[in-house]
Amino acid sequence: MSQSPLMDRRHLDFMLHEVLDVGRLSAYPRFAAHNRETYDAAIELAHQIALEKFLPHARKSDLNEPKMVDGKVELIPEIGEGVAAYNEAGFCAALADFDAGGMQLPFVVAQACDAMFSAANAGTIAYPALARAAANLLAVYGTERQRRLYERPIVEGRYFGTMCLSEPQAGSSLSDIKTRATPQPDGSYRISGAKMWISAGDHELGENIVHLLLAKIDGAPAGVRGISLFIVPRWRVNEDGSRGARNDVALAGLNHKMGQRGSVNTFLKFGEQGDCYAELVGEPHHGLGYMFHMMNEERIGVGMGALQQGSVGYQYSLKYARERRQGRHPDQKDPSSPPVALIEHADVRRMLLQQKCYVEGAQLLGFHASMLVDRAHDPDEAVRRDSHLLLELLTPIIKSWGSDYALKANELAIQILGGYGYTRDYPVEQCYRDNRINPIHEGTNGIQALDLLGRKAMQQGGAALKLLLAEIGRMCHQAGNHAELRGLAQQLGGLAGLTANVTREAGARMAAGDVRLVLANAAHYMTLAGHLVIGWMWLWQADVALGALAKASESDRDFYRGKLQACRFFFATELPIAEHAARLVQQAEPSAYAMQDAWF
Ligand SMILES: Cc1cc2nc3c(=O)[nH]c(=O)nc-3n(C[C@H](O)[C@H](O)[C@H](O)COP(=O)(O)OP(=O)(O)OC[C@H]3O[C@@H](n4cnc5c(N)ncnc54)[C@H](O)[C@@H]3O)c2cc1C
Repeated sequence: MSQSPLMDRRHLDFMLHEVLDVGRLSAYPRFAAHNRETYDAAIELAHQIALEKFLPHARKSDLNEPKMVDGKVELIPEIGEGVAAYNEAGFCAALADFDAGGMQLPFVVAQACDAMFSAANAGTIAYPALARAAANLLAVYGTERQRRLYERPIVEGRYFGTMCLSEPQAGSSLSDIKTRATPQPDGSYRISGAKMWISAGDHELGENIVHLLLAKIDGAPAGVRGISLFIVPRWRVNEDGSRGARNDVALAGLNHKMGQRGSVNTFLKFGEQGDCYAELVGEPHHGLGYMFHMMNEERIGVGMGALQQGSVGYQYSLKYARERRQGRHPDQKDPSSPPVALIEHADVRRMLLQQKCYVEGAQLLGFHASMLVDRAHDPDEAVRRDSHLLLELLTPIIKSWGSDYALKANELAIQILGGYGYTRDYPVEQCYRDNRINPIHEGTNGIQALDLLGRKAMQQGGAALKLLLAEIGRMCHQAGNHAELRGLAQQLGGLAGLTANVTREAGARMAAGDVRLVLANAAHYMTLAGHLVIGWMWLWQADVALGALAKASESDRDFYRGKLQACRFFFATELPIAEHAARLVQQAEPSAYAMQDAWF
């Protein structure tokens, strides 16, 4: 079971069932028709389709990026076949209601299914993933009519979707977008402007593309408060749902990317002929809020997608290290003795352990956060409120720490393969290239760090952080019952206390006006918070593993021992980095802030 090239299935089962116990979600009325068996069946179906329809063209789509031919996007046919198989199996409707033809799966289970597809082919999964995100947004904020005309065909796998936020001059700073929306007497709008970097922005995979686009209505207030959200169909849609005339949306060019080359990335122009039809979603000027509702879940997806690339590289380098023989131990002087497998070298084991810690620690965080999304269905209002608060705090960490450290894992995988890792004959360099986008899109990791320290850690008087530290405290208390974990629990408890102090002091400094200097250390704060929560995830895994060890079969015992050893490794080699980061934030370390442009 654990031999899948996509993911260590034993580890996935451990996270979902032994640590998180996702089966208990079936106690919520929304998921009552499901149980552990239906969750596992959905994941296994995703695994099979990913192996058969996504993985085989991963290299081909890397070597044959999309082309623009006579104004149309040309993709290799395998992409369409993979997407069709995904849609036919119902994954385009994984989260949708049964009534709408959906699977009504919990978010955490849908994430586990997606993990298979993004591990197999990060480029191809972009098409249905964006479509599903657009459908989710319309399900929450669309009118009945908009849901019928635009969401329903996406759920049925006939239409696709995009997110049109960025413009050539406005990426991180969306308050500076220039795209305009002009109201029409019939209540619709006409759009004029250009959108840059739009993933899956144009292709022939389905009947239509629903662009969800941010624009400013004529006369809107300046800044983010003036941004509204629009549906802009590639083809207009008649009231009976049939396809109307081509809308005034033009493909102006393609961007040629470093990785994820199968997913077309476009530069789109809206309203060049003065007739780009659009419909407002929700209220005017609330567009960014609606988009962020969708993007928060997308950000968990970005972190998880990054970790899947980390996981594929880890699995591949582990297999390679077991098979390739090279060198001898430092104290083996006899040159005629046979070379040992790479995995015999402690330094190679260090690189494998680092990958294991980054990937498996952050994957558990991603699945835990996904379960917090599902707790929106809890009947208890206090559970819903606390889950939401915690999720707000954890989301930038999953996106940012997850994607930074998954990329470090890919670097280590390349390193383990030595010169071979640097060639295109082995898959680890593609993992790295496919992964390199994740710290950049959906809000750069620099912006995520600013959001974490400047807003999320401070909001409601630090209420989310208090919740997080209380959860970590409970974990430390529980793990401390095992003599073997007591020292680790004390170490993590100490770091949690330090985080509370550092955050309080940073907040006080910002309140006193030192905002820029404090936020100059936001990346260090992200390291602190990220390492703290990943330490929590490892202590949690170690606690469960220790409890299961006594009753486990011999092969399972190795699995649990591996968890315990990875936890010890993380606490010995990585957690102290967080203490250093904490001191930098505490001192409001000034050198980057004080550096002058002219001194470079
Ligand atoms: C492959 C790919 C796919 C994408 N898909 C989509 C898509 O589907 N839809 C969409 O709308 N967009 C998409 N994007 C756009 C993406 O979200 C932006 O590239 C990203 O938000 C960064 O914007 P930018 O490229 O303009 O960089 P900039 O905003 O110019 O940022 C450059 C650097 O400066 C830093 N920086 C900027 N502002 C600040 C600040 N205030 N404080 C500190 N540091 C700052 C950033 O962290 C970054 O390191 C995609 C991009 C790529 C490359």
